[in-house]
Amino acid sequence: MIREVLTIGDERLLQVSEPVRNHEFNTKELSSLIRDMEDTMDHKGGVGIAAVQIGYHKRITIIKYDGTNPRYAEIGDCPLTVIINPQIRALDNEQSTYNEGCLSVPDMRGMVSRPKRIHYQFYNQYGELISGEDDGFFVRVMQHEIDHMDGILFPSRVEDKSTLKATDIG
Ligand code: ZN
Repeated sequence: MIREVLTIGDERLLQVSEPVRNHEFNTKELSSLIRDMEDTMDHKGGVGIAAVQIGYHKRITIIKYDGTNPRYAEIGDCPLTVIINPQIRALDNEQSTYNEGCLSVPDMRGMVSRPKRIHYQFYNQYGELISGEDDGFFVRVMQHEIDHMDGILFPSRVEDKSTLKATDIG
């Protein structure tokens, strides 16, 4: 079911999300929430969405993208990936800069620098631990989504505010 996406100015986006507890994995409630997140993200044409963006303060995000999204055509493919209670650390000091946008910050993009090489670990909806390393778009989106879990929206990460610009592509 497509849900309303909270937008910047809504205080609920500034609240820190709670970890998913053991008994909440692999439940109908969790799969229904994830389905709603995917429906909402697909409807809005996003590549990632955090549960907090639909008003649910749990450390859950999904990421999905492929070449059919013209905005991200060069990035490659990522099948639907459910990311719960993620933990990340930068592997070195290298940063990458990207013109980020957000479903909760409509019609606006801005240049954000983030650590490039990341070691990550998270749980999927069945409670299985997944870990790896990446230096691409996947971990950039993951870092953006973890910010949501901590109540941070990308405009506060934009160092050069002159790069924060209105767009015609929500
Ligand atoms: Zn966002």
